[in-house]
Amino acid sequence: MSVTGICQICEAAPARHGCPQCGRAVCEDHWSDDAGLCTECTQGRRQ
Ligand SMILES: [Zn+2]
Ligand SMILES: [Zn+2]
Repeated sequence: MSVTGICQICEAAPARHGCPQCGRAVCEDHWSDDAGLCTECTQGRRQ
């Protein structure tokens, strides 16, 4: 998935990933490689 623009969480860094759950474009800081989701989504699904 190609993502362009700015991170929709911090609005300070370039977006590198698109979250498949919420659809946000997020930067490296707000992306969880482990979960394959943005940090906003991973916070709600800790196991
Ligand atoms: Zn960010
Ligand atoms: Zn998300």
